[in-house]
Amino acid sequence: MINQERIKNLLLELVQIDSVSREEREVAQRVRAICEELGAEVFIDDAGEKVGGNTGNVIARFPGTVPSAEPIMMSAHMDTVVPGKGVKPVVEGDIIRSDGTTVLGGDDKSGVAVILETIRCLQEQDIPHAPIDAVFSICEEVGLLGAKHVDLSKVRARYGLVFDSDDPGFLFTRGPSSNHFEFKIYGLESHAGVAPEQGISAIKIAAEGIAAMKLGRIDEETTANIGVIQGGAATNIITNLVTLKGEARSLDDAKLEAQSRHMVKCLEDAAAKYEVSVDGVTTRGRVESHVTREYHSMDVSDDSRVVRLVKSAAARMGLDVKTLASGGGCDANIFNKLGIECANLGTGMRAIHTVKEWLDVKDMYASAEMTLEIMRLNGEQARQAAGK
Ligand SMILES: [Zn+2]
Repeated sequence: MINQERIKNLLLELVQIDSVSREEREVAQRVRAICEELGAEVFIDDAGEKVGGNTGNVIARFPGTVPSAEPIMMSAHMDTVVPGKGVKPVVEGDIIRSDGTTVLGGDDKSGVAVILETIRCLQEQDIPHAPIDAVFSICEEVGLLGAKHVDLSKVRARYGLVFDSDDPGFLFTRGPSSNHFEFKIYGLESHAGVAPEQGISAIKIAAEGIAAMKLGRIDEETTANIGVIQGGAATNIITNLVTLKGEARSLDDAKLEAQSRHMVKCLEDAAAKYEVSVDGVTTRGRVESHVTREYHSMDVSDDSRVVRLVKSAAARMGLDVKTLASGGGCDANIFNKLGIECANLGTGMRAIHTVKEWLDVKDMYASAEMTLEIMRLNGEQARQAAGK
């Protein structure tokens, strides 16, 4: 059994340490201290320097008590979205929420708490277990930057779990690839009242291009959005530059490419309709498109080692854990790409990325109990394999 009071108090402590992305140092130091107290060899890598943050990822290597067992990773991110400073958690029975002025930060401090409580229990209860690499990442919320820059030479494990989703009854094993778009739409500046025929409105091109785009939910596996539009200075100027930012995601890379090409083409087609000649110089509407891959999809099979382990552990507790696809990206997308096969287990966080964020501690307890059982079963399996 886990210690419910202790994990709840740890969560309450952690959410009150400010750690918006790139400013995770204080919480990283606290996590480091706890891990050292528990006997880990702790590294802070140089990811922070690479991404302009004030700390790197915390990588804590805990020795195992089953000598032959392969190391297993447990990971959660330390950063939160905004507004995330000065979190004042409100406890109402089993529900913990923010006071409504900030997020709670249960995303993903509930994951951090689950990992630390599990390790404490393994040690206190003398449960034979594999070596554990606990990876506490930075900057997950701003493009999975901590995971992208993790110092892999410090991580021994090649499989494991990320704790960064809602319901502990679900294991996310598939996630989309995501493309990020930045479009610059160029028109031609002119006085709107005096010489409108000598201008090309970048706003009009943007409007026509966006109106022609399929956006929102494209199909079961694919989504797309234009999230930012900027341009224009005054009503009497025909605007010569509009900037758009957007994204598309799909579980299927071919569909993602098709959607991305479609979005670029809509803007290019709109721009191509506009052309003016002033004093013998011809100007055409024009689009500059920058499409970058934000992260790659993940697809961990139900037959993989980590999924079988989680399902067997859940079954021993009389529970059924379902694997499913997520519409979002998380550190697990990156870790899988880096060769650490991992799935994402829920911790009870709800209404994340809003000031209404809340968490039912019973869900977090269930997540920690399941994680403890996963580690116990993993240790047993390693011992059995060594005994053969
Ligand atoms: Zn998260």
